[in-house]
Amino acid sequence: GEKSLPLVTDGKGGAPFDVNLIKRDFPILQEKVNGRPLIWLDNAATTQKPKQVIDRITYFYEHENSNIHRAAHELAARATDAYEGARKKVQTFLNAGSVNEIIFVRGATEAINLVAKTWGEQNLSARDEIILSNLEHHANIVPWQQLGAKKGLKIRVIPVDDDGQILLDEYAKLLNSKTRLVSFTQVSNALGTVTPAKRIVEMAHAAGAKVLVDGAQSVSHLRSDVRALNCDWFVFSGHKVFGPTGIGVLYGKEDLLNQTQPWQGGGNVIQDVTFEFTRFHDAPNRFEAGTGNIADAVGLGSAIDYVNKIGIDVIHQYEHYLLVYATGLLKDIPGLRLIGTAPDKASVLSFVFAGYKTEEVGAALNEEGIAVRSGHHCAQPILRRFGVETTVRPSLAFYNTCSDVDVLVEILYRLRSTRR
Ligand code: PLP
Repeated sequence: GEKSLPLVTDGKGGAPFDVNLIKRDFPILQEKVNGRPLIWLDNAATTQKPKQVIDRITYFYEHENSNIHRAAHELAARATDAYEGARKKVQTFLNAGSVNEIIFVRGATEAINLVAKTWGEQNLSARDEIILSNLEHHANIVPWQQLGAKKGLKIRVIPVDDDGQILLDEYAKLLNSKTRLVSFTQVSNALGTVTPAKRIVEMAHAAGAKVLVDGAQSVSHLRSDVRALNCDWFVFSGHKVFGPTGIGVLYGKEDLLNQTQPWQGGGNVIQDVTFEFTRFHDAPNRFEAGTGNIADAVGLGSAIDYVNKIGIDVIHQYEHYLLVYATGLLKDIPGLRLIGTAPDKASVLSFVFAGYKTEEVGAALNEEGIAVRSGHHCAQPILRRFGVETTVRPSLAFYNTCSDVDVLVEILYRLRSTRR
């Protein structure tokens, strides 16, 4: 049995959240690694998939597979219903105003590139300014840098304090009449910081700038509400929210999407084509050229159903409990330095360990069946802000337990005792 498991309920008298039952939904969590039960603490890199999602994808290929929209036959109708049904689930999950605001892409990276290479290309010009935060993943830096080099844009960076939280006063000083875009993450993948997203969006809009929110690390931990946030775009990847790889979402406000010219041309995006002229569909089709990842979009819809069944608020509450539990134990280990200590954090514990390279810690944990990431986490600027090139990064999901954390902590103490 699981020790010290809190009884987390949905607050409506619903069934308690039984983490041991939940664990059984994830076949891969039964794997053995180096003879030990797998402990998956690499959730910020990717999450594991419940049987329900795996089965849904299999069902699609066994009973529904067809290209969508184009053919007038039964399977085309089934595939189209499944795909558009998934879009509807994403709309509800994000609380978007319309299904037309949900564009299926390959992932967060592709979504950000899409905005940079369409709206950015079409609307920004020399000396315009873009604001990013110091916390950004490379996916939310490099596309803007590429655009900046091409157009002569200035990129400005919001600094963070010593806990890894965004400094709003410094941000206020960066905003001016040349600011055209603010693009920032809701949760830092390297530190776990939850940024004051609503405030950042409000301040950007007050300055007349558009705002993109990177939800890659937030969607699996926090309730997402694009209308409450009032962001212009919101992006995430299916694989980080218990869905398949190769599918992700760009949310954009409908008017804005329809005022933006498509990125890729091809089938599906057009209303009418002659050799002289093409008339494009409105969103979402105008941004979904060619045959997309139909089966995995359906799988993502199923992952959202799974998350909804537990309840994102229940998940948030339980993960917070786990994070506090793990933080308390880790910070007492001699020689361990936690990086990222903001009061508002989600699910990421980043640290360095005196006397060990981060890859040595990763390898030692792997020997005992624990999967963590050790490296730069595709967020080199923020690690350098804290004077390190790499960290060890355990990251939590709702299927993790206090026992998982205990095993991690025990191994770290063992390492401590063998090298001082
Ligand atoms: N943004 C953040 C904050 C991330 O953590 C990641 C992935 O680690 C990405 C963007 C990119 O996601 P993907 O590689 O799925 O496109």
